[in-house]
Amino acid sequence: MTDTRPAKWTIVQHWAADPQGCEVFAPYFDVDEPCCFACGWYSERWTEGRSARKAWERATLERAHIIPAGLGGASHPGNFLLLCRPCHKDSPDWDEPLEMANWISRRDERPSKEVEHVNTWLRAADRVPLLKPALRELLSRGGTAEDAIGVMRRHVRRAVLHGSELSEGTMEAVLRATARELFP
Ligand SMILES: [Zn+2]
Repeated sequence: MTDTRPAKWTIVQHWAADPQGCEVFAPYFDVDEPCCFACGWYSERWTEGRSARKAWERATLERAHIIPAGLGGASHPGNFLLLCRPCHKDSPDWDEPLEMANWISRRDERPSKEVEHVNTWLRAADRVPLLKPALRELLSRGGTAEDAIGVMRRHVRRAVLHGSELSEGTMEAVLRATARELFP
């Protein structure tokens, strides 16, 4: 089956010309700052001096039908939203657009990819009780935060798989290995 979905930029231009539609289907929409229409999730790395068009093309957002093709949805750009993967996965596949609008209105805002990354490290650190005493021990011996980061980087390299991001569980393992090395 051929892909009849319009290009991302065509979808963006449709919504840029329909502010009233955006109020219902794309509350976070800003043509110059690509983000998930439903939750506002974005990455600082998408823009970085690029034109709006290039930034939207770079953004890891998925073209999502309002009414699915299999339920009679059109391939017109107005039947498409650009959503992050979790929003695309959770959004309704239904033949009435009202369900999509209601779902979007209740969707929680998500912070940027970079903020989420830091929050994930912090959650992982909460589950490694040895980490704080290990860092204190390092500092009391005249070590620095850079020393700790060096150890951590080495343990991150043990786990890095090309093209995939560190999972929360991997972060926890990295922090536990770091703490053990600093505070044997
Ligand atoms: Zn989203």
